[in-house]
Amino acid sequence: MSGVVVVGASLAGLRAADALARSGYSGGVTLIGDEPHQPYNRPPLSKEALLEEQEFDAIRLRSSAKPGAVSLLTGVGAVSADLGRGLLFLSDGRELAFEGLVAATGLRPRALGIPKPSGGVVVLRTYEDLLRLRAELAGVRDVAIIGAGFIGCELAASLTQLGYRVSVIAPEDVPMLRPLGEELGGALMRHHLQAGVGFGLSRLPVAVEGGERPERVVCNDGSSFDAQLVIEAVGSSANVEWLEGNGLDLSDGVLCDERLRFGGDGRFLAAGDVARFPNLAFDSIPRRVEHWEMAVDTGRYAGKALGRLLTSGEESPAFTPMPAFWSDQFELRIQSFGMPGLVTDPGQIRVLEGDLDGEVVVGYHREDTLVGVVLVGFPQNHMKYRTAVSESLAAGVAPA
Ligand SMILES: Cc1cc2nc3c(=O)[nH]c(=O)nc-3n(C[C@H](O)[C@H](O)[C@H](O)COP(=O)(O)OP(=O)(O)OC[C@H]3O[C@@H](n4cnc5c(N)ncnc54)[C@H](O)[C@@H]3O)c2cc1C
Repeated sequence: MSGVVVVGASLAGLRAADALARSGYSGGVTLIGDEPHQPYNRPPLSKEALLEEQEFDAIRLRSSAKPGAVSLLTGVGAVSADLGRGLLFLSDGRELAFEGLVAATGLRPRALGIPKPSGGVVVLRTYEDLLRLRAELAGVRDVAIIGAGFIGCELAASLTQLGYRVSVIAPEDVPMLRPLGEELGGALMRHHLQAGVGFGLSRLPVAVEGGERPERVVCNDGSSFDAQLVIEAVGSSANVEWLEGNGLDLSDGVLCDERLRFGGDGRFLAAGDVARFPNLAFDSIPRRVEHWEMAVDTGRYAGKALGRLLTSGEESPAFTPMPAFWSDQFELRIQSFGMPGLVTDPGQIRVLEGDLDGEVVVGYHREDTLVGVVLVGFPQNHMKYRTAVSESLAAGVAPA
Protein backbone atom coordinates (compact mmCIF):
# COMPACT_ATOMS: atom_id res chain seq x y z
CA MET A 1 0.00 0.00 0.00
CA SER A 2 1.18 3.52 -0.62
CA GLY A 3 0.23 7.07 0.13
CA VAL A 4 -2.91 8.86 1.18
CA VAL A 5 -5.74 9.72 -1.17
CA VAL A 6 -7.93 12.73 -0.45
CA VAL A 7 -11.15 12.46 -2.44
CA GLY A 8 -12.83 15.81 -3.20
CA ALA A 9 -10.62 18.71 -4.31
CA SER A 10 -12.43 21.62 -2.75
CA LEU A 11 -12.01 23.48 0.53
CA ALA A 12 -11.98 20.57 3.00
CA GLY A 13 -9.97 18.29 0.72
CA LEU A 14 -7.35 20.95 -0.02
CA ARG A 15 -6.92 21.81 3.66
CA ALA A 16 -6.64 18.09 4.53
CA ALA A 17 -4.04 17.50 1.81
CA ASP A 18 -2.05 20.57 2.91
CA ALA A 19 -2.10 19.47 6.56
CA LEU A 20 -0.98 15.96 5.63
CA ALA A 21 1.86 17.29 3.51
CA ARG A 22 2.98 19.53 6.38
CA SER A 23 2.62 16.81 9.04
CA GLY A 24 5.89 15.10 8.18
CA TYR A 25 4.11 12.24 6.41
CA SER A 26 6.34 11.21 3.50
CA GLY A 27 4.24 8.51 1.82
CA GLY A 28 2.74 10.85 -0.82
CA VAL A 29 -0.56 12.71 -0.94
CA THR A 30 -2.92 12.65 -3.93
CA LEU A 31 -5.88 15.04 -4.07
CA ILE A 32 -8.60 13.92 -6.47
CA GLY A 33 -11.44 16.10 -7.73
CA ASP A 34 -14.10 15.50 -10.34
CA GLU A 35 -14.49 19.18 -11.25
CA PRO A 36 -12.35 20.42 -14.14
CA HIS A 37 -10.79 23.16 -11.97
CA GLN A 38 -8.26 23.82 -9.30
CA PRO A 39 -9.99 24.05 -5.88
CA TYR A 40 -12.06 27.21 -5.43
CA ASN A 41 -14.17 29.03 -2.88
CA ARG A 42 -17.98 28.65 -3.02
CA PRO A 43 -19.27 31.48 -0.75
CA PRO A 44 -18.58 34.21 -3.36
CA LEU A 45 -20.79 32.39 -5.93
CA SER A 46 -23.96 33.83 -4.36
CA LYS A 47 -22.36 37.16 -3.40
CA GLU A 48 -19.40 39.07 -4.83
CA ALA A 49 -18.71 36.73 -7.77
CA LEU A 50 -22.29 37.28 -8.92
CA LEU A 51 -22.46 40.98 -8.02
CA GLU A 52 -19.07 41.90 -9.44
CA GLU A 53 -18.88 39.35 -12.31
CA GLN A 54 -15.66 37.95 -10.84
CA GLU A 55 -13.79 35.41 -12.95
CA PHE A 56 -12.36 32.11 -11.75
CA ASP A 57 -8.99 33.43 -10.60
CA ALA A 58 -10.66 35.68 -8.00
CA ILE A 59 -12.18 32.68 -6.21
CA ARG A 60 -9.35 30.15 -6.62
CA LEU A 61 -8.04 28.63 -3.38
CA ARG A 62 -4.28 28.55 -2.79
CA SER A 63 -2.45 25.54 -1.32
CA SER A 64 -0.24 26.14 1.70
CA ALA A 65 1.89 23.03 1.04
CA LYS A 66 5.33 23.12 -0.62
CA PRO A 67 5.10 22.98 -4.43
CA GLY A 68 4.94 19.34 -5.50
CA ALA A 69 4.04 18.04 -2.02
CA VAL A 70 0.47 17.28 -3.09
CA SER A 71 -0.37 15.67 -6.46
CA LEU A 72 -3.61 17.16 -7.75
CA LEU A 73 -5.78 15.19 -10.20
CA THR A 74 -8.68 17.24 -11.54
CA GLY A 75 -11.52 16.23 -13.82
CA VAL A 76 -11.44 12.68 -12.51
CA GLY A 77 -13.88 11.19 -10.00
CA ALA A 78 -13.65 8.35 -7.52
CA VAL A 79 -16.15 5.77 -8.74
CA SER A 80 -15.73 3.34 -5.86
CA ALA A 81 -13.38 2.40 -3.04
CA ASP A 82 -12.45 -0.93 -1.49
CA LEU A 83 -11.35 0.12 1.99
CA GLY A 84 -10.40 -3.43 3.00
CA ARG A 85 -7.93 -3.78 0.12
CA GLY A 86 -6.89 -0.10 0.11
CA LEU A 87 -7.91 0.53 -3.50
CA LEU A 88 -9.60 3.53 -5.11
CA PHE A 89 -11.17 3.17 -8.56
CA LEU A 90 -11.24 6.30 -10.73
CA SER A 91 -13.54 7.36 -13.55
CA ASP A 92 -10.67 7.24 -16.07
CA GLY A 93 -10.07 3.55 -15.30
CA ARG A 94 -7.08 4.03 -13.02
CA GLU A 95 -6.72 2.23 -9.68
CA LEU A 96 -4.86 3.89 -6.82
CA ALA A 97 -3.53 1.96 -3.83
CA PHE A 98 -3.63 3.80 -0.51
CA GLU A 99 -2.83 3.32 3.14
CA GLY A 100 -5.03 6.20 4.30
CA LEU A 101 -8.03 8.04 2.85
CA VAL A 102 -9.86 11.30 3.48
CA ALA A 103 -13.41 11.59 2.15
CA ALA A 104 -14.20 15.25 1.35
CA THR A 105 -16.71 14.93 -1.46
CA GLY A 106 -19.19 17.53 -0.19
CA LEU A 107 -22.73 17.96 -1.43
CA ARG A 108 -24.78 18.42 -4.57
CA PRO A 109 -27.95 20.51 -4.76
CA ARG A 110 -31.34 18.88 -4.62
CA ALA A 111 -33.95 19.66 -7.24
CA LEU A 112 -37.72 19.58 -6.70
CA GLY A 113 -39.68 16.82 -8.42
CA ILE A 114 -42.33 19.21 -9.77
CA PRO A 115 -43.24 19.84 -13.42
CA LYS A 116 -40.86 22.43 -14.93
CA PRO A 117 -39.53 23.53 -18.31
CA SER A 118 -36.23 22.15 -19.58
CA GLY A 119 -34.60 25.62 -19.65
CA GLY A 120 -34.47 28.51 -17.22
CA VAL A 121 -34.41 26.48 -13.98
CA VAL A 122 -31.01 26.42 -12.26
CA VAL A 123 -29.19 25.56 -9.02
CA LEU A 124 -26.03 27.11 -7.55
CA ARG A 125 -23.17 25.02 -6.17
CA THR A 126 -20.33 25.11 -8.69
CA TYR A 127 -18.50 27.67 -10.81
CA GLU A 128 -20.24 26.18 -13.88
CA ASP A 129 -23.58 26.77 -12.14
CA LEU A 130 -22.59 30.45 -11.73
CA LEU A 131 -21.71 30.73 -15.42
CA ARG A 132 -25.05 29.15 -16.32
CA LEU A 133 -26.91 31.49 -13.96
CA ARG A 134 -25.22 34.54 -15.48
CA ALA A 135 -26.09 33.35 -19.00
CA GLU A 136 -29.69 32.52 -18.04
CA LEU A 137 -30.22 36.01 -16.55
CA ALA A 138 -30.00 37.63 -19.99
CA GLY A 139 -33.35 39.24 -20.85
CA VAL A 140 -34.91 38.26 -17.51
CA ARG A 141 -36.90 40.68 -15.33
CA ASP A 142 -38.50 38.43 -12.67
CA VAL A 143 -36.60 35.73 -10.77
CA ALA A 144 -38.24 33.22 -8.43
CA ILE A 145 -36.03 31.63 -5.82
CA ILE A 146 -37.44 28.45 -4.33
CA GLY A 147 -36.04 28.02 -0.82
CA ALA A 148 -35.55 30.57 1.96
CA GLY A 149 -32.33 29.30 3.52
CA PHE A 150 -29.04 31.19 3.52
CA ILE A 151 -28.20 30.56 -0.14
CA GLY A 152 -31.73 31.50 -1.26
CA CYS A 153 -31.63 34.72 0.79
CA GLU A 154 -28.11 35.65 -0.34
CA LEU A 155 -29.17 35.17 -3.96
CA ALA A 156 -32.31 37.23 -3.34
CA ALA A 157 -30.17 40.08 -1.98
CA SER A 158 -27.59 39.94 -4.78
CA LEU A 159 -30.12 39.71 -7.62
CA THR A 160 -32.24 42.53 -6.14
CA GLN A 161 -29.08 44.66 -5.99
CA LEU A 162 -28.50 43.81 -9.65
CA GLY A 163 -31.96 45.18 -10.50
CA TYR A 164 -34.04 41.99 -10.87
CA ARG A 165 -37.51 41.59 -9.34
CA VAL A 166 -37.08 38.69 -6.93
CA SER A 167 -39.65 36.49 -5.18
CA VAL A 168 -38.57 33.97 -2.53
CA ILE A 169 -40.99 31.03 -2.22
CA ALA A 170 -40.81 28.53 0.64
CA PRO A 171 -42.98 26.52 3.06
CA GLU A 172 -41.65 28.20 6.25
CA ASP A 173 -43.28 31.31 7.76
CA VAL A 174 -40.02 33.28 7.86
CA PRO A 175 -36.72 32.92 6.00
CA MET A 176 -33.76 31.13 7.65
CA LEU A 177 -36.15 29.77 10.26
CA ARG A 178 -34.25 26.59 11.19
CA PRO A 179 -30.82 28.15 11.84
CA LEU A 180 -32.00 31.49 13.29
CA GLY A 181 -35.50 31.08 14.76
CA GLU A 182 -38.71 32.98 14.15
CA GLU A 183 -37.88 36.41 15.59
CA LEU A 184 -34.53 36.98 13.93
CA GLY A 185 -35.73 35.35 10.69
CA GLY A 186 -38.71 37.75 10.79
CA ALA A 187 -36.47 40.76 11.38
CA LEU A 188 -34.23 39.81 8.45
CA MET A 189 -37.31 39.31 6.29
CA ARG A 190 -38.43 42.88 7.07
CA HIS A 191 -35.02 44.07 5.95
CA HIS A 192 -35.33 42.13 2.67
CA LEU A 193 -38.88 43.46 2.13
CA GLN A 194 -37.71 47.05 2.60
CA ALA A 195 -34.94 46.43 0.08
CA GLY A 196 -37.49 45.22 -2.48
CA VAL A 197 -37.47 41.40 -2.20
CA GLY A 198 -40.89 39.77 -2.51
CA PHE A 199 -41.83 36.72 -0.39
CA GLY A 200 -44.31 33.92 -0.99
CA LEU A 201 -43.95 32.03 2.29
CA SER A 202 -46.08 29.37 4.05
CA ARG A 203 -46.75 27.67 0.72
CA LEU A 204 -45.29 25.01 -1.54
CA PRO A 205 -44.50 25.43 -5.21
CA VAL A 206 -46.32 22.77 -7.22
CA ALA A 207 -45.27 23.62 -10.80
CA VAL A 208 -43.09 25.92 -12.86
CA GLU A 209 -45.32 26.79 -15.79
CA GLY A 210 -44.25 28.02 -19.21
CA GLY A 211 -43.09 26.71 -22.56
CA GLU A 212 -39.40 25.99 -23.04
CA ARG A 213 -38.66 28.59 -20.35
CA PRO A 214 -40.51 29.50 -17.14
CA GLU A 215 -43.30 32.06 -17.07
CA ARG A 216 -44.51 31.62 -13.48
CA VAL A 217 -44.25 29.48 -10.37
CA VAL A 218 -47.60 28.14 -9.17
CA CYS A 219 -48.12 27.25 -5.50
CA ASN A 220 -50.41 24.89 -3.59
CA ASP A 221 -52.56 27.77 -2.26
CA GLY A 222 -53.37 28.91 -5.82
CA SER A 223 -50.96 31.85 -5.75
CA SER A 224 -48.46 32.32 -8.57
CA PHE A 225 -45.29 34.35 -9.09
CA ASP A 226 -44.04 35.68 -12.43
CA ALA A 227 -40.58 34.34 -13.23
CA GLN A 228 -38.57 34.01 -16.40
CA LEU A 229 -35.83 32.35 -14.35
CA VAL A 230 -36.22 29.99 -11.38
CA ILE A 231 -33.45 29.13 -8.94
CA GLU A 232 -33.88 26.05 -6.79
CA ALA A 233 -32.16 26.50 -3.42
CA VAL A 234 -33.84 23.65 -1.56
CA GLY A 235 -30.96 21.90 0.17
CA SER A 236 -28.40 19.29 -0.80
CA SER A 237 -27.53 15.60 -0.81
CA ALA A 238 -24.16 14.21 0.22
CA ASN A 239 -21.82 12.74 -2.41
CA VAL A 240 -21.27 9.33 -0.84
CA GLU A 241 -22.14 6.78 -3.54
CA TRP A 242 -18.45 6.06 -4.27
CA LEU A 243 -18.08 4.66 -0.70
CA GLU A 244 -20.95 2.17 -1.00
CA GLY A 245 -20.18 -1.52 -0.49
CA ASN A 246 -17.91 -0.96 2.51
CA GLY A 247 -20.53 -1.52 5.23
CA LEU A 248 -20.66 2.18 6.18
CA ASP A 249 -23.58 4.27 7.39
CA LEU A 250 -23.99 6.69 4.48
CA SER A 251 -27.59 7.65 5.22
CA ASP A 252 -26.77 11.38 5.61
CA GLY A 253 -23.16 11.92 4.69
CA VAL A 254 -20.39 9.70 6.09
CA LEU A 255 -21.08 8.75 9.71
CA CYS A 256 -17.90 9.32 11.73
CA ASP A 257 -16.83 9.13 15.36
CA GLU A 258 -15.62 12.12 17.40
CA ARG A 259 -12.23 11.86 15.66
CA LEU A 260 -13.84 12.05 12.20
CA ARG A 261 -12.94 8.38 11.60
CA PHE A 262 -15.09 5.87 9.79
CA GLY A 263 -14.72 2.28 8.68
CA GLY A 264 -13.08 0.91 11.79
CA ASP A 265 -9.32 1.13 11.89
CA GLY A 266 -8.52 4.86 12.09
CA ARG A 267 -6.99 5.30 8.61
CA PHE A 268 -10.14 6.62 6.96
CA LEU A 269 -11.45 10.07 7.90
CA ALA A 270 -14.09 12.42 6.53
CA ALA A 271 -13.99 16.22 6.34
CA GLY A 272 -16.19 19.12 5.29
CA ASP A 273 -19.87 19.12 4.43
CA VAL A 274 -19.95 15.34 3.87
CA ALA A 275 -18.76 14.43 7.40
CA ARG A 276 -21.44 13.59 10.00
CA PHE A 277 -19.79 13.59 13.40
CA PRO A 278 -20.57 14.23 17.08
CA ASN A 279 -19.12 17.43 18.53
CA LEU A 280 -18.71 16.51 22.20
CA ALA A 281 -18.54 20.18 23.18
CA PHE A 282 -22.32 20.15 22.56
CA ASP A 283 -23.59 16.56 22.79
CA SER A 284 -23.02 13.13 21.26
CA ILE A 285 -25.41 13.40 18.30
CA PRO A 286 -23.63 13.15 14.94
CA ARG A 287 -24.46 16.03 12.57
CA ARG A 288 -23.23 17.39 9.30
CA VAL A 289 -22.24 21.07 9.43
CA GLU A 290 -22.36 22.94 6.11
CA HIS A 291 -20.13 25.91 6.94
CA TRP A 292 -16.99 27.22 5.29
CA GLU A 293 -15.04 27.39 8.57
CA MET A 294 -16.02 23.84 9.47
CA ALA A 295 -14.72 22.62 6.12
CA VAL A 296 -11.39 24.29 6.95
CA ASP A 297 -11.29 22.98 10.54
CA THR A 298 -12.33 19.40 9.71
CA GLY A 299 -9.93 19.31 6.75
CA ARG A 300 -6.97 20.48 8.84
CA TYR A 301 -7.85 18.12 11.68
CA ALA A 302 -8.27 15.11 9.35
CA GLY A 303 -4.97 15.75 7.54
CA LYS A 304 -3.02 16.33 10.73
CA ALA A 305 -4.59 13.38 12.60
CA LEU A 306 -4.00 10.99 9.70
CA GLY A 307 -0.40 12.19 9.24
CA ARG A 308 0.25 11.66 12.94
CA LEU A 309 -1.28 8.19 12.94
CA LEU A 310 0.64 7.05 9.86
CA THR A 311 4.00 8.48 10.99
CA SER A 312 3.94 7.69 14.72
CA GLY A 313 0.92 5.46 15.36
CA GLU A 314 -0.48 8.06 17.78
CA GLU A 315 -4.16 8.95 18.09
CA SER A 316 -5.29 12.57 18.14
CA PRO A 317 -7.64 14.09 20.73
CA ALA A 318 -11.34 14.28 19.90
CA PHE A 319 -12.36 17.05 17.51
CA THR A 320 -14.50 19.60 19.41
CA PRO A 321 -14.57 22.74 17.26
CA MET A 322 -16.58 25.93 17.73
CA PRO A 323 -18.86 26.05 14.66
CA ALA A 324 -18.96 29.47 12.99
CA PHE A 325 -20.50 30.86 9.84
CA TRP A 326 -21.24 34.14 8.20
CA SER A 327 -23.70 35.31 5.58
CA ASP A 328 -23.79 38.60 3.67
CA GLN A 329 -27.21 39.90 2.61
CA PHE A 330 -27.44 43.47 1.33
CA GLU A 331 -25.24 45.52 3.66
CA LEU A 332 -25.84 43.11 6.56
CA ARG A 333 -23.12 40.78 7.85
CA ILE A 334 -24.70 37.92 9.81
CA GLN A 335 -22.19 36.03 11.95
CA SER A 336 -22.90 32.94 14.04
CA PHE A 337 -20.93 31.03 16.68
CA GLY A 338 -21.90 27.74 18.27
CA MET A 339 -25.05 25.87 17.25
CA PRO A 340 -28.05 28.21 17.38
CA GLY A 341 -30.04 25.71 15.28
CA LEU A 342 -30.11 23.33 18.28
CA VAL A 343 -32.58 25.62 20.03
CA THR A 344 -36.16 25.44 18.81
CA ASP A 345 -37.99 26.76 21.89
CA PRO A 346 -38.63 30.48 21.21
CA GLY A 347 -38.48 31.11 24.98
CA GLN A 348 -34.80 30.11 24.92
CA ILE A 349 -33.89 32.61 22.20
CA ARG A 350 -33.22 36.08 23.62
CA VAL A 351 -31.85 39.40 22.41
CA LEU A 352 -28.55 39.96 24.28
CA GLU A 353 -27.69 43.35 22.84
CA GLY A 354 -29.13 45.84 20.34
CA ASP A 355 -32.43 45.77 18.56
CA LEU A 356 -33.96 43.20 16.20
CA ASP A 357 -34.59 45.83 13.54
CA GLY A 358 -31.03 47.17 13.65
CA GLU A 359 -27.73 45.75 14.83
CA VAL A 360 -28.49 42.87 17.17
CA VAL A 361 -26.94 39.99 19.10
CA VAL A 362 -29.27 37.04 19.75
CA GLY A 363 -28.43 34.28 22.25
CA TYR A 364 -29.67 30.69 21.95
CA HIS A 365 -29.89 28.82 25.26
CA ARG A 366 -30.28 25.20 26.28
CA GLU A 367 -31.36 25.48 29.90
CA ASP A 368 -28.65 27.74 31.38
CA THR A 369 -26.08 27.09 28.68
CA LEU A 370 -25.49 29.56 25.87
CA VAL A 371 -25.07 27.14 22.91
CA GLY A 372 -25.08 29.73 20.14
CA VAL A 373 -25.08 33.43 19.29
CA VAL A 374 -25.96 35.23 16.09
CA LEU A 375 -24.78 38.76 15.49
CA VAL A 376 -26.19 41.04 12.84
CA GLY A 377 -23.60 43.79 12.66
CA PHE A 378 -21.58 44.48 15.85
CA PRO A 379 -18.30 43.33 14.23
CA GLN A 380 -16.32 44.58 17.24
CA ASN A 381 -18.16 42.09 19.48
CA HIS A 382 -17.45 38.83 17.61
CA MET A 383 -14.67 37.60 19.87
CA LYS A 384 -16.55 38.53 23.03
CA TYR A 385 -19.57 36.41 22.10
CA ARG A 386 -17.53 33.55 20.63
CA THR A 387 -15.73 33.34 23.97
CA ALA A 388 -19.03 33.58 25.86
CA VAL A 389 -20.34 30.49 24.02
CA SER A 390 -17.09 28.57 24.63
CA GLU A 391 -17.06 29.40 28.31
CA SER A 392 -20.72 28.60 28.79
CA LEU A 393 -20.32 25.23 27.04
CA ALA A 394 -17.22 24.38 29.07
CA ALA A 395 -19.06 25.21 32.28
CA GLY A 396 -22.38 23.62 31.48
CA VAL A 397 -22.43 20.73 29.04
CA ALA A 398 -21.88 17.08 29.65
CA PRO A 399 -22.19 14.97 26.47
CA ALA A 400 -25.62 13.35 26.44
C1 LIG B 1 -23.37 29.36 -3.13
C2 LIG B 1 -22.79 29.02 -1.79
C3 LIG B 1 -22.57 30.02 -0.84
C4 LIG B 1 -22.04 29.71 0.40
N1 LIG B 1 -21.84 30.72 1.29
C5 LIG B 1 -21.35 30.44 2.53
C6 LIG B 1 -21.16 31.46 3.49
O1 LIG B 1 -21.42 32.64 3.22
N2 LIG B 1 -20.69 31.13 4.72
C7 LIG B 1 -20.39 29.84 5.05
O2 LIG B 1 -19.96 29.58 6.19
N3 LIG B 1 -20.53 28.83 4.14
C8 LIG B 1 -21.02 29.10 2.90
N4 LIG B 1 -21.19 28.10 1.98
C9 LIG B 1 -20.84 26.71 2.37
C10 LIG B 1 -19.38 26.37 2.08
O3 LIG B 1 -19.01 26.82 0.81
C11 LIG B 1 -19.21 24.87 2.19
O4 LIG B 1 -19.40 24.54 3.55
C12 LIG B 1 -17.86 24.38 1.71
O5 LIG B 1 -17.70 24.61 0.33
C13 LIG B 1 -17.73 22.88 1.95
O6 LIG B 1 -16.53 22.44 1.40
P1 LIG B 1 -16.28 20.88 1.11
O7 LIG B 1 -14.88 20.81 0.61
O8 LIG B 1 -16.67 20.07 2.28
O9 LIG B 1 -17.33 20.47 -0.01
P2 LIG B 1 -17.51 20.99 -1.49
O10 LIG B 1 -17.10 22.42 -1.58
O11 LIG B 1 -18.89 20.59 -1.91
O12 LIG B 1 -16.46 20.14 -2.33
C14 LIG B 1 -16.57 18.77 -2.59
C15 LIG B 1 -15.80 18.49 -3.85
O13 LIG B 1 -15.74 17.08 -4.06
C16 LIG B 1 -16.04 16.81 -5.43
N5 LIG B 1 -16.52 15.43 -5.56
C17 LIG B 1 -17.75 14.94 -5.25
N6 LIG B 1 -17.81 13.61 -5.49
C18 LIG B 1 -16.58 13.25 -5.94
C19 LIG B 1 -16.01 12.01 -6.33
N7 LIG B 1 -16.70 10.87 -6.30
N8 LIG B 1 -14.73 12.01 -6.75
C20 LIG B 1 -13.99 13.16 -6.77
N9 LIG B 1 -14.48 14.37 -6.42
C21 LIG B 1 -15.76 14.40 -5.99
C22 LIG B 1 -17.09 17.85 -5.75
O14 LIG B 1 -17.26 18.02 -7.16
C23 LIG B 1 -16.46 19.08 -5.09
O15 LIG B 1 -15.50 19.67 -5.91
C24 LIG B 1 -21.71 28.38 0.72
C25 LIG B 1 -21.94 27.35 -0.23
C26 LIG B 1 -22.47 27.67 -1.47
C27 LIG B 1 -22.72 26.56 -2.48
